[in-house]
Amino acid sequence: MIRPENPANEAQRLQALYRYRILDSQKERSFDDLVTIAKAVCGTSMAAVTLVDVERQWFKAMHGVEAAELPRSESMCGHAILQPQEVMVVEDARQDQRFHDNPVVVGEPHIRFYAGAPLLSSDGMALGTLCVFDPRPQHLQPAQTEALVALSRQVMVVMELRRFALDIQQHMLERDDYQRLLTEYHEVLLAQNADLTEQSRTDALTGLPNRRAMAAALEAAVGDAEGQSRPTSVALLDIDHFKRINDVHGHATGDRVLAELGAVLRTHSAGRGLAARYGGEEFLVLMPDTDVRAAELQCELLRRAVESLALGFPVTVSAGVAMHHAGHSIDQTLQRADAALYRAKASGRNRVERAVD
Ligand code: GH3
Ligand code: MG
Ligand code: MG
Repeated sequence: MIRPENPANEAQRLQALYRYRILDSQKERSFDDLVTIAKAVCGTSMAAVTLVDVERQWFKAMHGVEAAELPRSESMCGHAILQPQEVMVVEDARQDQRFHDNPVVVGEPHIRFYAGAPLLSSDGMALGTLCVFDPRPQHLQPAQTEALVALSRQVMVVMELRRFALDIQQHMLERDDYQRLLTEYHEVLLAQNADLTEQSRTDALTGLPNRRAMAAALEAAVGDAEGQSRPTSVALLDIDHFKRINDVHGHATGDRVLAELGAVLRTHSAGRGLAARYGGEEFLVLMPDTDVRAAELQCELLRRAVESLALGFPVTVSAGVAMHHAGHSIDQTLQRADAALYRAKASGRNRVERAVD
């Protein structure tokens, strides 16, 4: 017995074969059908689609005999693929020095006749064969040889289609993965956005809402109050001589003062209004359901609370209070509060002034 040599292009041939992802796959009707036709056309009792792997020939389809695979060393097809452009015909294997003592010849299934048409990939690699065989010596008519070659091409058509279907399947799976990834990414972005929205509404130094957040709250509160004819007041607070505090104690200490004042305002307005950092060292307090007298009183309490902060040096604030009038714009109300604040500064600071109506 002569073991088939490897073709010169063996490495590329195997690469081509593996691209079809067909080895060890399930039986498939299309391949079985082609084997049945080949057997009938050539008048043999057995036929197979075989693929030649490194050390074995593996059967994708087989009729007339059962086997999953055979060692390549005993494979007749291993010889057939050495001439990719030809059908290898062995009319009587017992007379052929390559096969006379081959186990499939001397033993089951006692092959005498063999004809194998190489299965050629699109790049010309012989991957295996469509072969017919029989325990009796035989001769193929040219028309039968032609038909066998035609059928071997059909085997390749089915293999190509099969590979295409697998590629599409793979592609869909990857697309699903990609879709999932996009969804996750989208969720991360949404979370980040929510975070940014929060950050864009909050003053980092004091943790109070900033001017933008306060504008929205003012709109809402004033709209509500006007609808229900309830009083709403606002107060503008400004740290007295803050520039001096920065100059004397340093900017970092100035920041600490701002943060402390923020905490006082947050505590004070908790549950009954909203305090915001309105500008550098200026704060705005929104007091719903509060008329100007009550607002003035609250500011007075705030002023005292600030005055008694133990920061190591005196810190005071001045405030201007205004009650919102129906029909006025928020800006008008804030301007009135600002004018009151200006008067508080002008009349000596560390005091609360009420806006004139
Ligand atoms: P007045 O009593 O008239 O309000 O005097 P003032 O010094 O408080 O007012 P002025 O407007 O002259 O100065 C405000 C200072 O507040 C100037 C600015 O450098 C300081 N400032 C604004 N924002 C910050 C901040 O975030 N941190 C610190 N440390 N200082 C700030
Ligand atoms: Mg100021
Ligand atoms: Mg100031």
